Amino acid sequence: MIELIGYCKSESSALRRDIEALVRLESPSDDKAAVDRCGDALVSMLDAAGGRVARLPQENRGDHVRAEFPGGPRRVLILGHFDTVWPVGQIERMPIREEDGRLHGPGVYDMKASIAIALLAVRALEVHGQARPRIVMLWTTDEEVGSATSRALIESEARESDAVLVAEPSLPGGACKTQRKGCGEFNLKVHGISAHAGIDPRLGASAVHELARLILAVEKLADPDRGVSVNAGVISGGTRPNVIAETAEAAIDVRAPTMADAARLDEQFRKLQVTDPRVKIEVTGGFERPPLERTPGVARLYLQARDVARALGRDLGEGGTGGGSDGNFTAALGVPTLDGLGPDGAGAHALHEHVLLADLPWRAAFMAALLQGINGGAE
Ligand SMILES: [Zn+2]
Repeated sequence: MIELIGYCKSESSALRRDIEALVRLESPSDDKAAVDRCGDALVSMLDAAGGRVARLPQENRGDHVRAEFPGGPRRVLILGHFDTVWPVGQIERMPIREEDGRLHGPGVYDMKASIAIALLAVRALEVHGQARPRIVMLWTTDEEVGSATSRALIESEARESDAVLVAEPSLPGGACKTQRKGCGEFNLKVHGISAHAGIDPRLGASAVHELARLILAVEKLADPDRGVSVNAGVISGGTRPNVIAETAEAAIDVRAPTMADAARLDEQFRKLQVTDPRVKIEVTGGFERPPLERTPGVARLYLQARDVARALGRDLGEGGTGGGSDGNFTAALGVPTLDGLGPDGAGAHALHEHVLLADLPWRAAFMAALLQGINGGAE
């Protein structure tokens, strides 16, 4: 095990070269050409690491990339994405630079360094001739925009796997993620009756006023102590101050820690009532990602990872987050899922995004040893 660390340390410069190459190829989810350029580089890297690589063509998003590395008897899915939230050109504002042991750059923490870590982990097992599970890596291109084109693919790969390792960044300080809230968006559309606000106020039924009452009602559905949140983030409606508004809309973000909370919230949204009977309400949307709950399967995988980390000299903490990932889908299927196995660092979706350079080789060695452990291999 210790030799894995030695090997990964000796590969630090190759690791960094891969990270920088991926970061330089900026890949915002909504720019297919740019994402595919990054995908080209990724395909070559996976190919060089000995994977059987396939591009999964997409019309409007970048092509997803799948690579398979032979092994067994168990099968592990390593899951991540190479789209980022940053537009092309962001790298001018956030140039790749090292400062105080931190490597900065757009997408470096979420989650291009993770890709290089996973590649090094697989190479480390190969070089040391150590048994490894059959590994499928799935690097997707639309995680930052809800995973509409990758979800079915992720779920079918997960169903075939004994465990899913999600390479999303770790929590600041290096802990992994054993809980994520489910996330969704509800849209309220209110249809009222327009009228002249001064001449015929009684003939009108204001969609804006009704929406305001509805927002107060949905605010009450939140339960901060349980971690259930409701946020009317965007509202619109009406045309002019002197017109009673015919329509109004709100987009509402919801988060819930358990399936039961999510189901309850869903039901409450569907049952929303208007106070003015002349007004109609339309509720659409719902939960897009189910919660990643700390099921016994998740807990077992975490405890195994903690033992592996301990053998490599570190305490591996665990924690939860309000943000979702593609691990939410795999955990909801009942497949043991451990999330947050990517690098330590900070600043996802923020200008100070960075990874801690000194942490990277350890992460790769840890992932290698964990793969071996899941396969039932020697420690
Ligand atoms: Zn991410």
